[in-house]
Amino acid sequence: MELYNPLTIKLLKNKYGFQFAKSFGQNFLTDPEVIDGIAGGAGLGPDDFVLEIGPGIGVLTAEICRRAGKAASIEIDPHMVTVLHDTLAEFDNVHVIEQDVLKTDLKQIIEDEKGSCSHVKVLGNLPYYITTPIIMKLLTEHVPAECIVIMMQKEVAERICAEPGSRTYGALSVTVQYYCEVSMVMEVPRESFMPMPMVDSAVLRLDVRSKPAVEVKDEAMFFRCVKAGFSQRRKTLLNSLMTMGESKERVKAALEEAGIDPKRRAETLSLEEFGRLSDVFVK
Ligand code: SAM
Repeated sequence: MELYNPLTIKLLKNKYGFQFAKSFGQNFLTDPEVIDGIAGGAGLGPDDFVLEIGPGIGVLTAEICRRAGKAASIEIDPHMVTVLHDTLAEFDNVHVIEQDVLKTDLKQIIEDEKGSCSHVKVLGNLPYYITTPIIMKLLTEHVPAECIVIMMQKEVAERICAEPGSRTYGALSVTVQYYCEVSMVMEVPRESFMPMPMVDSAVLRLDVRSKPAVEVKDEAMFFRCVKAGFSQRRKTLLNSLMTMGESKERVKAALEEAGIDPKRRAETLSLEEFGRLSDVFVK
């Protein structure tokens, strides 16, 4: 069964009587090159355990099953889970779990499901309405994956990859780059999905760092500075950092001690500079 074929999707839709649920971000992949790009981008092999987010009708899942040792796929929609029992019937190395990924203990699933696989990877064509919460959950809960290869809205992918000084650089860029090395696997036009979404997409590979990109005294303070800095991104750091509840004098002194011009804006600060600044506030 060629699951990426729009005719197959239509057949499944008629057979199981489901509708494409917009509320679950259901846009199914119809381009085999993209499926190959995601599986290939993760360099899957028999020693890999894959945690897949949002399998849908199983088009990427089937490819994961062919290449990886084992997989667990988390799907919220019970209609899709019924379809998956049919479309994945030929594979015995996947467990479909009907759950909301945001309410799931992903560490526990990995522990329970990975068996003898020695590498853990997270893959998915993400439901776009919760892309950022999923990424934040994976990173801040320290889900033990060595790499994450995920498709998302192109604009979000660009924000994640952005460098200091660029228009799209923000708290999301800093946070993801703090935890991961980020690379673009491929851009994906909207025509690669059924139904066709309103936006283009991109696949990113996030290689989780063994240590964060910068060493800081207090991670919570680092993220407080990042959040405050970008809370009013058109303002100078002197003004935006006051949202941390600090006086103007204290913010000015901290910036000067960190060697950062108080007139600069957060969007120009590197991760190292955010790190220096947060270390001063910890003092
Ligand atoms: N992987 C399939 C593909 O590429 O064709 C489907 C991708 S579709 C963009 C996103 C999938 O995530 C849908 O199947 C949707 O039902 C599922 N989903 C949406 N919200 C979810 C959640 N909170 N937890 C788990 N799965 C979710």
